[in-house]
Amino acid sequence: MNLRLILTVLASPLLAGLAAEPVIPRPPSDMTMKPEDTEVWTPVPAIVRAPAGEIPSDAIILFDGHSLDSWRSAAGDAPAPWKVEDGVLVVVPKSGDIQTRASFGDIQLHLEFRSPVPATGKSQGRGNSGVFFMGLYEVQVLDSYDNPTYVNGQAAAAYKQTPPLVNASRPPGEWQVYDAVWIAPRFSADGKLLHPARLTLFHNGVLVQHDIAFLGPTLNRGRPAYVPHAGRLPLVLQEHRNPVAFRNIWVRELALPAHD
Ligand code: MG
Repeated sequence: MNLRLILTVLASPLLAGLAAEPVIPRPPSDMTMKPEDTEVWTPVPAIVRAPAGEIPSDAIILFDGHSLDSWRSAAGDAPAPWKVEDGVLVVVPKSGDIQTRASFGDIQLHLEFRSPVPATGKSQGRGNSGVFFMGLYEVQVLDSYDNPTYVNGQAAAAYKQTPPLVNASRPPGEWQVYDAVWIAPRFSADGKLLHPARLTLFHNGVLVQHDIAFLGPTLNRGRPAYVPHAGRLPLVLQEHRNPVAFRNIWVRELALPAHD
């Protein structure tokens, strides 16, 4: 390499940019406008009380440690067949799924779960349950602490569709948290899909799904495809033969803009 070439390379903007500390640009003010020209005062956001360690004041409590009145068997109009022990909801193996009596569209969901100890089984056989938004779209609940399985089936996966960004699982026996934002799919009056369902999910405070689109309802076998359905449907919790525990389940109803 001759001297001229070396000097040219050293002086290139690209290399200069790499070497220099990045500079935060200063967006220019529009001095023809007053500060108040860009202030928005209405509509005023509704007040939601959110005291430390408490449930938001506009939340709908689905399980508070006592009553299963908000739930029924997913197999029919019978009481939810799971048990409540020491303020905790526990899956009864082979009893079937449970679903909320109420139906929901767009929601914020908070839910806490605990995988059984001692951990038994492996892969999909360890601490398996699930949260089915609208009874159709599963976010996997699984003991994914040191428990390899297919990645689109591990904890916090959109089951058989989208793996989580990271594995934020805690060891079995420790309480874990899902905080989700669910946007229901939108269908036209004649049943065409306008916008897919979307999910953002935090697992133990860690972002694991960011605004993903579901490809359709969850299937264990086959490729998912949308089928038109109501704008509001029950939330379902899955019985998968493992005594997974749940507590502190609540939702906030939302009306979010749908998008592709
Ligand atoms: Mg499951």
